[in-house]
Amino acid sequence: MSELLKVGVSEEKSDEARTSFLVGAVAVSNMIKSTLGPRGMLKLLYTETGEPILSNDGATILKHIAPNGPSAKILIDSAKEHGEKEGDGTTTLTVLTGELLQEADRLIFKGAHPSKIIRSYRKAHEEAMRILREIGEKCRTEEEKLSLAKSTLSSKFSPVELESLAKLAVAVSEKATDIEMVNFVKIAEGEVSSSYVEEGILLECDIGPGQKTEMDSPRVLVVNTAMDTDKVKIFGAKASVTSPKELEELENAERKKMAKKVEEIAAHADIIINRQIIYDYPTQEFTKRGKISIERADFSGIEMVSKVLNAKVLSTFDNVQKEDVGECGRFERVKISNRVFSRFLGVPNKGACTVVVKGPSKEILEEAARSLVGAVKVLMNTSEEYVYGGGSAEAAVALRLKGETEGERAYGRALLEVTRTLAENAGHSPDGILDEIMRRHREGQHTYGVGIDEASCMREKNVRESLRLKEIIWTKASETAEMLLRCDGIIRHKPRERLRE
Ligand code: ADP
Ligand code: MG
Repeated sequence: MSELLKVGVSEEKSDEARTSFLVGAVAVSNMIKSTLGPRGMLKLLYTETGEPILSNDGATILKHIAPNGPSAKILIDSAKEHGEKEGDGTTTLTVLTGELLQEADRLIFKGAHPSKIIRSYRKAHEEAMRILREIGEKCRTEEEKLSLAKSTLSSKFSPVELESLAKLAVAVSEKATDIEMVNFVKIAEGEVSSSYVEEGILLECDIGPGQKTEMDSPRVLVVNTAMDTDKVKIFGAKASVTSPKELEELENAERKKMAKKVEEIAAHADIIINRQIIYDYPTQEFTKRGKISIERADFSGIEMVSKVLNAKVLSTFDNVQKEDVGECGRFERVKISNRVFSRFLGVPNKGACTVVVKGPSKEILEEAARSLVGAVKVLMNTSEEYVYGGGSAEAAVALRLKGETEGERAYGRALLEVTRTLAENAGHSPDGILDEIMRRHREGQHTYGVGIDEASCMREKNVRESLRLKEIIWTKASETAEMLLRCDGIIRHKPRERLRE
């Protein structure tokens, strides 16, 4: 084989290569372990610009660490992707994957073949999924839903903030049909608990001067068109003029063209939202006709309006159809904390809404908004089934796994490590807590997990987690571990020789 490689390319094989390959992923997992759970420690991170951030959120930490080696990168990418998509469970996923790898590495060291371990892991995983569904329960009350939201929210919030954010998340998840239709507006003012949800959408953009500030049942046209003939582009234009009079004529002609364009647009709508700039002259023309014009709406705003109001984004006005034009019950120009917004109420798409997130500082506000998005995502995707949290589900499944082979037992130990980590982070006699939990589970009380600093019944403590999310986390951890275990060699290219400068 080595003869096939180019000169200077080296190859490391089998066990020793695997171990050195896995080290990076295991290190990431061990590093992040202490942040797991409500009692997780914080990490002080320095961003690329040297700015310090204190965080115990897995997704935030992973975003700021530079991976050391390819397996670390693969694990970080997989966890980050999961966090962005699902909104919660990033740390658990990282820890569980790391544990599966560490357990496998021990077995390989004792002589087991990776393929055999992978087979056992797959079998154990299937059984784990079955047991997980068995202990899952249907969400019946609003309180249960609320507790699901609370366990996804960051441990940084006070009980009052937690309660209000959880309520908000439940309200949004019940109203919204698609997370893309939820508009999050962040206002750095007031308390987190004064955040609220309102129907319809808010866009941060102003209307033209002198235009109406409210309107009932407007027709709304969303456009992406240049309206800048205000300025004669001397260099860009093809026409060349030789006298001021000619220039004036040219300007007049341009104005006429613009007035015609405004006329065409205005015939179809009462409110015009443009992606691009609307200069003074066309704005005045809209005002003259009693219309409202909004310029430079940002891209995501345009997308949102067109979706929520059922409007098309037009660039030509030759043949505007009725179905291209959006509509809503009412338009208002509003001010929130000295920022100007356009508010569209009574929108045809009932699944749309706006969440106004408030917070006293930029950091708290960002944290509140991020946590809220995560909680809404979890709730919207929850199939209304839950398992108990605090590591109780992991303990229950680990205990019930048959564990016929070494590999299957190793899978169970990896799961239980999540519970142990939560106990360790609770900071008070981790072995004692874990022993107590296992004793309860053996007696059939599968709701026992790690409470604030002791083994507690998670039903009593109201700590629940989405069953669907747990399935996704365990599956993704198994898949990532399997992929990394399949690697049996590292081929390094000869470093490029530096040329003399
Ligand atoms: P992740 O990034 O995986 O979401 P977290 O730091 O949010 O990591 O911790 C999640 C773990 O914390 C879950 O096992 C969950 O059951 C547990 N947990 C959350 N809230 C509580 C609570 N109030 N009491 C006990 N455990 C909790
Ligand atoms: Mg979480």
